[in-house]
Amino acid sequence: MRPSLVWFRQDLRLADNPALQAAVDRGEPIIPIYIWSPEEEEGWAPGGASQWWLHGSLKALAADLETLGSRLVLRSGRALPALQKLARQTGAGAVFWNRRYEPAAVERDRQVEQALAADGLEAKSFKGSVLWEPWEIATQAGTPYKVFTPFYNACLRAGLGGEPLMRPSALPAPESWPDSEPLSELDLEPQRDWTDGIRKEWTPGEDSARETLRRFLRGGLGKYSRDRDVPSVLGTAQVSPHLCFGEISPRQAWVATGESGGEAWKRQLVWREFGRHLLFHFPRTADEPLRPEFVRFPWKDDPAALQLWQKGQTGYPIVDAGMRQLWETGWMHNRVRMIVASFLVKDLMIPWQEGARWFWDTLVDADLANNTLGWQWTAGCGADAAPYFRVLNPMSQGQKFDPKGKYVRRWVPELESLSAKDIHEPWNATDAVLKRASVELGKDYPYPIVDHAEARTAALDAYGQLRGDTRTRR
Ligand SMILES: Cc1cc2nc3c(=O)[nH]c(=O)nc-3n(C[C@H](O)[C@H](O)[C@H](O)COP(=O)(O)OP(=O)(O)OC[C@H]3O[C@@H](n4cnc5c(N)ncnc54)[C@H](O)[C@@H]3O)c2cc1C
Repeated sequence: MRPSLVWFRQDLRLADNPALQAAVDRGEPIIPIYIWSPEEEEGWAPGGASQWWLHGSLKALAADLETLGSRLVLRSGRALPALQKLARQTGAGAVFWNRRYEPAAVERDRQVEQALAADGLEAKSFKGSVLWEPWEIATQAGTPYKVFTPFYNACLRAGLGGEPLMRPSALPAPESWPDSEPLSELDLEPQRDWTDGIRKEWTPGEDSARETLRRFLRGGLGKYSRDRDVPSVLGTAQVSPHLCFGEISPRQAWVATGESGGEAWKRQLVWREFGRHLLFHFPRTADEPLRPEFVRFPWKDDPAALQLWQKGQTGYPIVDAGMRQLWETGWMHNRVRMIVASFLVKDLMIPWQEGARWFWDTLVDADLANNTLGWQWTAGCGADAAPYFRVLNPMSQGQKFDPKGKYVRRWVPELESLSAKDIHEPWNATDAVLKRASVELGKDYPYPIVDHAEARTAALDAYGQLRGDTRTRR
């Protein structure tokens, strides 16, 4: 009996898990393992909020495995020596895992596969975290896509190719279990507990992922096209951290919407695929712009402004609401992500990489592919990016997507008594109105840190020069 090792990574679930299924099909005892190896992530080790989530998700996975008569073996350190040691200790004959697409993981997995095969083990990886492998979708010329709509159409043409796999009903245990490090020793939970708001909002784990998706399909899917851009309404699935940690697979999410309907939502799942496609084919884009001319962009080094943005103290209510939602709950509505990101890179002209880093540390759904895609898209330096002259106006975005000011009131309570008309630009309210609402600008709530109209002109000039274009679109 030579057990199979199943190496869990961003697929912390039992259902629709091809690596786990391969081990079940092999018919030998199964040893599920997780290896905490942040040093192998090349500067993108999970941030604070993700670590909190990972702790909860590993705990949930371990409990789920126990219901199947199994266990989760935890190790820390570099993956290859950890796997080799476990294989020696247990006499394992095979190691199975689901693929990841971040550059550091791709390279590491290639080395792991070669080394384990050289050790005489069956080492095999599977498609468990995407609907289409990045190399399965290509243009007619055989090149990667850089524009979303043709990518989307190519995905639809390729078809889904199969139903999600069932959750195994039992997992054969080995005669003896290898040692496991206690979860607490991975130190994933913060020393100083700042997670109160996050804990109220989220429950990591496969059961919670399934329930979140079920709730959305019952109540939200039909209204998604209408409500998805309204941050005060729970109009999106809020399933992103569950997808990020693989507590639910994109295939399960796609298939659960049924044969017809849900097109607008499934399109978002394809954006997720597009993110992986781009990061796999353009692996430097997590740190560098896809469009090389942007290396010359005259970004500003302004740590004071960056800090005000991070703290939600820019004086632009919709921006501050988003940044405070992020800090408090580890998540931010997509429309507001676009607004705060545009404000950072265009109004403040601070490098998109600074914003991406802050999101990386604070989001529970921090995902290298989606985060890179979102930031490069906003900055105008990525694939299929927003045109460089598109500078989101925080006042009109607020008025359009939060017309009653409900979202701002929730996250910027010092402005709660202002009317829907004034709440998105309090500096234009009369003194009497501000007084009635108990708002003293500069004391209770800051004045805007930049003048949006002037900042927009400066950004457009800089973008125009980058393109060797003396015209600007004012
Ligand atoms: C600057 C910026 C940074 C972002 N960083 C991340 C990130 O680190 N992690 C992350 O998961 N998403 C990121 N996004 C994309 C998007 O904001 C989130 O996926 C979405 O808000 C998650 O909420 P939801 O699950 O309710 O989404 P829904 O609208 O219900 O969509 C369902 C799923 O589709 C995928 N999806 C939706 N929108 C996008 C998108 N624009 N790009 C790629 N996939 C998408 C997500 O996996 C999401 O969970 C970012 C967007 C921007 C503009």
